[in-house]
Amino acid sequence: MPAPRLRSRSLRKVFSKVPGGRTTIHYKKRKPKTARCGNCGALLKGIPREFPFRMRSMAKTKKRPERPYGGVLCSRCMRQEIVNKIRQ
Ligand SMILES: [Zn+2]
Repeated sequence: MPAPRLRSRSLRKVFSKVPGGRTTIHYKKRKPKTARCGNCGALLKGIPREFPFRMRSMAKTKKRPERPYGGVLCSRCMRQEIVNKIRQ
């Protein structure tokens, strides 16, 4: 039975094989949820699902697509938004 603090479901279990052939359980933090479109809620592509400390050391160009509304809207909503802006 693991220690009470490790029985929480907020930690994920990682089974890892140790050199002796035994399998041990490592308790790791869960990754944050994937980024979603601010308009339709679709999963955004091109955005890594990483911890903030890892995102901080990443280049800006690796964190979101380089286009208008990149990292905020999905490509389909971005196209619609640009059309709406011009039609005004
Ligand atoms: Zn969208």
